[in-house]
Amino acid sequence: MATSAALPSASVPPETWAAAHDQMVVTLRDLIRIPSINPPPLEAPDGELRVARYLAEQLRALGLDPVIVEPEPGRGSVHARLRGDGTGGDPFLLLSHLDVVPAPADRWSHDPFAADVADGYIYGRGAVDMKGMVALELGVVRQLVAEARAAGRDPARDPIPGLRRDVLFTCTADEEAGSLAGARWLVRQHPDWFQAAGAVNEAGGVSVTVAGRRFYPIQVAEKGFAPYRIHVTGTWGHGSVPRDDNAAVLAAEIVRRLAVPGPVRMTPVMSRFLEAAAAALPDDAASVLRRIGRGELDPASADAAIDALCEPKYARTLRALIRDTLSPDVIHAGVKYNVIPGDAVIEVDCRVLPGTSEADMRAEVERRIGPDLLAQCTIELLVWGAPVETPAEGPIWDVLVATLFDHDPDGVPLPVMVPFATDAKAIEALGVPTYGFSPLRLEPDEWFLDRFHGVDERVSLDALRFGLPVLYDVVRRFCG
Ligand SMILES: [Zn+2]
Repeated sequence: MATSAALPSASVPPETWAAAHDQMVVTLRDLIRIPSINPPPLEAPDGELRVARYLAEQLRALGLDPVIVEPEPGRGSVHARLRGDGTGGDPFLLLSHLDVVPAPADRWSHDPFAADVADGYIYGRGAVDMKGMVALELGVVRQLVAEARAAGRDPARDPIPGLRRDVLFTCTADEEAGSLAGARWLVRQHPDWFQAAGAVNEAGGVSVTVAGRRFYPIQVAEKGFAPYRIHVTGTWGHGSVPRDDNAAVLAAEIVRRLAVPGPVRMTPVMSRFLEAAAAALPDDAASVLRRIGRGELDPASADAAIDALCEPKYARTLRALIRDTLSPDVIHAGVKYNVIPGDAVIEVDCRVLPGTSEADMRAEVERRIGPDLLAQCTIELLVWGAPVETPAEGPIWDVLVATLFDHDPDGVPLPVMVPFATDAKAIEALGVPTYGFSPLRLEPDEWFLDRFHGVDERVSLDALRFGLPVLYDVVRRFCG
């Protein structure tokens, strides 16, 4: 790790960082061992509250005054505040969520809730999504508190030496199931937990190696979601006399029409992403990316070019980030093999780019189904989550880029959109710009997104060791 004298972390002794790393690892393993599964299982419905209590205990041990709220039984969120001297403007928010998705253990090589350490990795559900970041953020809070104590200050009441803004530490419940018992409730009831000049959250700042170059995509935008339930009406009948209006047959044709890849549309974020990636890659790859970024290729050619350029795992993601997508994921029809179904239900997961409204998406679904089959359908919106976009410029952006660069001069930070949703959607209501920035430097063959919700979810000790001083420097620089 190359650190310059200008980095605040460089004035912290190496043995202090080593001890902080060890403590962070203990914290992460403790967090993983408290299964905070969402949706909460009947046998252990209070996992999020237990994690919130664990963190509150850690914060109290530091001398802070954490607050826990529980809008529904067992659904706990936790918050604490470190003070600056107030001369630097609005606070900075260290945001995270406490819940994890289920982890059926049968395909894992380690118990998903044992937090085993093996081959330099911590295994367990939540290692990357996102208890690893909770541990990093708590590690930064611990270091700042230690500095306050060393200066003879009370960290619960006095300003942390050198901080001109407050630092908010907010961990929410229920992110994995729509945030209704978490950030969406908290934004209405406790907006002060979020009100900040900006926030760092999950899903960015993690290195990805492509063609020998190490990139750090920083999340500045995320797609919106518009899942629809489509009710298809046919005619019931006897299976011995086939009918053209068999609802299963109609549904099959509708699914085929929905699943076709749609047109490419470049957003400012993805244009910048492709341009920045092109600038760091060899000429032939660069010219293809630039042509895609300028919208010069038709959809089929753009997809073929992406497939030729990238491994399938990157290609799938990139193709999803340059268009609105439709994924038909549920089909139900039929009661018995000899009964022609008169009803079918399709659920299609639509993800929209910034600039696409729910009405636009619905119109596209209707257009694809086509007038002939639309007459047999009713379309119901299940839930709407608007896309979010944060500017890839300004003081926070500049600090994130400069700090990554100082810690990894060979790395290429660049702005990116993600295809999924995070709590950024909920806190956008307060106008807080949120950056996906949980800094981890990974080995070239690691594919971080596969770890999200995946089997054998894990994070390497070296990646965490890299991340802690990076996040500390971001806080010190932006709040200093
Ligand atoms: Zn997450």
